[in-house]
Amino acid sequence: SGSPIAVLGLGAMGRALASAFLEGGHRVAVWNRTPGKETELVAAGATAAATAGEAVRASRLVVVCLLDHTSVHDVLDPLAADLAGRAVVNLTSTAPNEARELAAWAERHGIDYLDGGIMATPPMIGRPGSSLLYSGSKTVFEEHTPALKLMGTADYFGEDAGLASLYDFALLSGMYLMFAGFTHGAAMVRSAGVSAAEFAERAVPWITAMAQTIPMATAAIDSGDYTTDVQSLDFNKAAVDAIVRASRDAGVGLDVIAPVKALIDRQVADGHGAEAFDRIFEGIRPLTPSP
Ligand code: NDP
Repeated sequence: SGSPIAVLGLGAMGRALASAFLEGGHRVAVWNRTPGKETELVAAGATAAATAGEAVRASRLVVVCLLDHTSVHDVLDPLAADLAGRAVVNLTSTAPNEARELAAWAERHGIDYLDGGIMATPPMIGRPGSSLLYSGSKTVFEEHTPALKLMGTADYFGEDAGLASLYDFALLSGMYLMFAGFTHGAAMVRSAGVSAAEFAERAVPWITAMAQTIPMATAAIDSGDYTTDVQSLDFNKAAVDAIVRASRDAGVGLDVIAPVKALIDRQVADGHGAEAFDRIFEGIRPLTPSP
């Protein structure tokens, strides 16, 4: 059987991770702050540890999946000495700087630290479509890749422990804004009595097709050259202004669409109306040089 793994945190996600390791043939020691969440895992072959330290000491690899950055410190700080020389893979959602802080904390205590972001829901873990992003210790990633792959695809982004989280949150931003855009459209058609289900039949293929055009925008964003002979910001302004009027007429709140209009308006006001829509990137980007 595979090497022993500790799973700290048995929320919906931690339980799914522990199951995937068990199915992969690992010995798994599980721990949760509040007892009672380990029952099914123990029936499936896991060992219930009385304390987090007990789980850690039984393992080489320690997988952490708690609520947030604070809870990770709450659980790991008292265990620093036990964790020294062991590998910690933290799959708790933390902001990039929180992941970097945890990596620095781990380094001070001689702990090998790999941070990860889970691009999946608990039922997806260990199934096709589950993707996990990692950054931090390359040694931990390489040594434990087979175990990590039991949860989903495993991609490594580099030694900066904050990178996986940065990608994770950047992808989630795209997701949230896409869902928000769908709800705006659903609110518009509601004014004509059209159901969200009916609207989704059109929205899914449309959004899917549009997503395929994303790579066409990347050259402009990466180079800063927004010259276009297709749709200009002047054109986009006319279109979005019309959508705003239509939304208002339909009694739909402008909270979702207004920021998009504001970004376009700013570029047009600054004299960039002949350039491409992607120029709105210039209105929000950090002052970091192009890649
Ligand atoms: P749950 O709310 O189901 O579980 C939270 C876990 O954190 C519980 O085990 C809870 O223990 C524990 N916890 C909270 N605070 C503390 C603390 N101070 N000390 C010790 N343990 C603590 O969340 P999930 O399992 O769904 O999510 C866990 C992590 O995975 C989160 O960071 C989440 O963002 C991330 N994630 C979740 C996804 C999902 O779809 N669910 C998707 C991608 C990432 P107790 O039972 O004692 O309260």
